[in-house]
Amino acid sequence: MNRQSFLKSLALTPLAMHLSSLNSLETWTYSLPHTEKMPVLFLGHGSPMNAIEDNQFVRGFKEILKSIPKPKAILCISAHWYIKGTQVLSSSMPKTIHDFGGFPDELYQVQYPAKGDPELAEEVKNLLGAQASLSNDWGFDHGAWSVLIHLFPKADIPVIQLSIDYSQPSAHHFELGKLLKTLRNKGILVVGSGNIVHNLGRIDWQNMNKEDYGYDRAIEVRERVNNAILNRNMNALIHYEKQGKAFQNAIPTPDHYLPLLYSLGMLDYADSLELFNDKLLAGSLSMTSLRIG
Ligand code: ZN
Repeated sequence: MNRQSFLKSLALTPLAMHLSSLNSLETWTYSLPHTEKMPVLFLGHGSPMNAIEDNQFVRGFKEILKSIPKPKAILCISAHWYIKGTQVLSSSMPKTIHDFGGFPDELYQVQYPAKGDPELAEEVKNLLGAQASLSNDWGFDHGAWSVLIHLFPKADIPVIQLSIDYSQPSAHHFELGKLLKTLRNKGILVVGSGNIVHNLGRIDWQNMNKEDYGYDRAIEVRERVNNAILNRNMNALIHYEKQGKAFQNAIPTPDHYLPLLYSLGMLDYADSLELFNDKLLAGSLSMTSLRIG
């Protein structure tokens, strides 16, 4: 029997079917890009002005990036896409959204011309299951581009965004983060972008430039959240609303806090944790950022 007949005869048997599917599985496995496991970031984005300023926080973003492998694509979970429903931005060329008011013209001129990644958007939707859908109705909001412009100024890495469903409890967002964990093995950099302490109604405008200036309650929340992160006390972090008055004051709305829970959902046991940009601003805002892994 020559090789061709042998293969033909195999093709007629159930065993051959089995071997053949194993073979194709092997081919499929080897065709996947083999990448180093990517870290995960949570970035305190603060004022939109950080996009065009050079300050300690912007330098902190650039510094942390130096030790991160170049990603294939980026998934950003921004506090500023806070809607009913879980949507994944699937445009191939997302627009830059200037979702703020009262800032200098220069800021409205900023464009972040990264491409989207419809294939990755589809993959993220599939990882999240029936609750997620694709959307072309959004673009890059400033929670995404005001930090990405420092991390990847050439805008040469495709970016997608995931919305935060405001109708869901905090534990739900942590669980969604867990579902996305496999992206780390595929060269995808996941960036949560928000602020842990974020009470804009209590900002002390007179002391915007005072170094590491926070009200007592902001100092307390920063310390307790940082300790919970470093001790991996996920329960306390997920149920932050139940941690007392200081938390209710420092985190009056969930939007800027929840991106942290997505990033923490991707934490693995072996990951290192590094806090950076760990400063308070104007009494009631923290720039604390986190690198996982
Ligand atoms: Zn914001």
